Amino acid sequence: MTVMRQVFIALSKSKPLGHFATHNRVAWLAAQRFVAGQSLDEAIEVVRQLNAAGLRVTFDHLGENVSSRAEAEAAADTYLLAIDRIRAAGVDSGISVKLTAIGLDLGDAVAEAMLRRILEKAAEAEPAVFVRIDMEGSDYTERTFGIFHRLHGDFENVGIVVQAYLYRTAGDVDKLIAIGSGPRLCKGAYLEAESIAWPDKADVDASYLRLARRLFDDEARRNGVYPAIATHDPAIIDWVKAHVAERGIDRDAFEFQMLYGVRRDLQQQLVAEGYRMRVYVPYGSQWYPYYMRRLAERPENVQFILRSLLSELKPGART
Ligand SMILES: Cc1cc2nc3c(=O)[nH]c(=O)nc-3n(C[C@H](O)[C@H](O)[C@H](O)COP(=O)(O)OP(=O)(O)OC[C@H]3O[C@@H](n4cnc5c(N)ncnc54)[C@H](O)[C@@H]3O)c2cc1C
Repeated sequence: MTVMRQVFIALSKSKPLGHFATHNRVAWLAAQRFVAGQSLDEAIEVVRQLNAAGLRVTFDHLGENVSSRAEAEAAADTYLLAIDRIRAAGVDSGISVKLTAIGLDLGDAVAEAMLRRILEKAAEAEPAVFVRIDMEGSDYTERTFGIFHRLHGDFENVGIVVQAYLYRTAGDVDKLIAIGSGPRLCKGAYLEAESIAWPDKADVDASYLRLARRLFDDEARRNGVYPAIATHDPAIIDWVKAHVAERGIDRDAFEFQMLYGVRRDLQQQLVAEGYRMRVYVPYGSQWYPYYMRRLAERPENVQFILRSLLSELKPGART
């Protein structure tokens, strides 16, 4: 793992820096590359544009680690509103939810109760809105799976995320395949100890391919698993394309997923080739930790952002 990655992930946890950044106009200008807006209206407009370009969406109201029941309730309410707006606007979008945003730090029961409210509302929508539970740092992995498995029996419109960098993930994927639930497969965005996660990219990539192969195998197909391949890695994407072609798997039996603002060219290319592509669209005022994790993934983004900020801030430039 690179030092830069460690630095950015450590900075993502700094509350004072987060407070400073979220009140700073220049920092917000930079973050807009990855964040669709601060309000639901702005985000819905972005979803419309993405849909018009053939891209599906999953919506994330930014926020994590709330420390009071009132904040957890407010975050859940925001999702209820987003579900109403998704259906009223007639856009093609699911939602992605972080359990710490809806009270996981206050206990499993709080997050589970909030998620149940969201799932009930999402299931009532016509058609139902799909709810994906994001996976956070390893302190939460076991509890997140626990809540998912408890609710999966009651709701069809819920899915979870698995992280290829964790050693445990092959076992988690077996359990998901057994219940016919297709996870979003990602590499993993947090700083984890070598005792639980592969530190080297080559090992994480190899794990990703093993897990992808498993998600497309005969048992997974029989059980109706619909995998979401979440990566911007061209080598993995090419491998998946070749693998599904070889196995005669339809292009509508799975989807690729990428983050808003990352590899827009590749997103469009995959749509043009007839693959399903879903974009993860975050919005809201609590964008700081999410943004820092994006910089951690690709420190070159820092130079890109500095360059574009300098040009934006030049006298006479439009902001
Ligand atoms: C839809 C979606 C949902 C996700 N949900 C979760 C989640 O719930 N939990 C979690 O831990 N992680 C999540 N992630 C993040 C994921 O774990 C990785 O940190 C992130 O996707 C970077 O890994 P990569 O697979 O793109 O490959 P990498 O090996 O990091 O990158 C491969 C190539 O992709 C491009 N690229 C990658 N990141 C960027 C970037 N930020 N800016 C520009 N180019 C970039 C570069 O060309 C790079 O060489 C999600 C990712 C996606 C796409």
